[in-house]
Amino acid sequence: MNSYFDSIEKIRHYLVMTSYQDDKEIKSPKRFSISKTFWRDYKCLENCGACCRAFSMDFWEDEFEEFKKIYPEKVELFKPRVIELFGKKDTIFSNYEESTRRLEENNFERCQFLNKENGWCMIHEKNAFTCQFELNRLQYFPKQSRCILNKKKFRNSWRWTKMDGTKGVYCDTLFPASKDVVEKVLNRDLPYFQRLKYLLKRYKINTERIELIISTLTSQAENLLQGNDIDDIVEIESGMKNLF
Ligand code: SF4
Ligand code: SF4
Repeated sequence: MNSYFDSIEKIRHYLVMTSYQDDKEIKSPKRFSISKTFWRDYKCLENCGACCRAFSMDFWEDEFEEFKKIYPEKVELFKPRVIELFGKKDTIFSNYEESTRRLEENNFERCQFLNKENGWCMIHEKNAFTCQFELNRLQYFPKQSRCILNKKKFRNSWRWTKMDGTKGVYCDTLFPASKDVVEKVLNRDLPYFQRLKYLLKRYKINTERIELIISTLTSQAENLLQGNDIDDIVEIESGMKNLF
């Protein structure tokens, strides 16, 4: 399985971007910025399924406990898997073997939890972190050693195949952010950054940067909910604003 289909590699990217710690070949960026587009909402629509490829679905033990309660009939599809993040070994629960088998049989195979009739996720109430985190992007620009947190459609998504065989994706990002949207994004997406902080602590990595990200997002939400505008882009390390 190439690293793109191993969801742990996506998690590694998230953790390196939101900390000051390199891991394997990924370098932590010197600069981290938050784009106002983070406050957009998005909708996943029926009969698409274009982004639901045969990625590994990986759960840490606490997540898997919740999963078991909601989808007891699917528990047997997951096996313990030893991973390594920041040089520390850990055991998670994963369908890694099955997703690898699917990819080996067919490079364009879909996720085993995708309902092929309607394109909806069959474990939507507790799908893996990487599924939930989409369409948030931690976009890395290695030449500038810079990461920008934003929310946007998938790159090259016009080439992707939906359930009916046609190309392109149905998901839509909604902008500008109304107060309702800000509240929705705050309640849905901010906990993802708390989760990344939890994982950084789990692997004993400094959490200063993720704390800055969380506090900046919290203060942006307060401003937007009070009816104030926010800068299009904020660089959190230096406090510099309006870079573009
Ligand atoms: S678990 Fe659900 S959301 Fe994630 S890739 Fe599979 S079908 Fe899509
Ligand atoms: S590409 Fe967009 S609309 Fe299609 S399944 Fe993925 S998130 Fe949903």
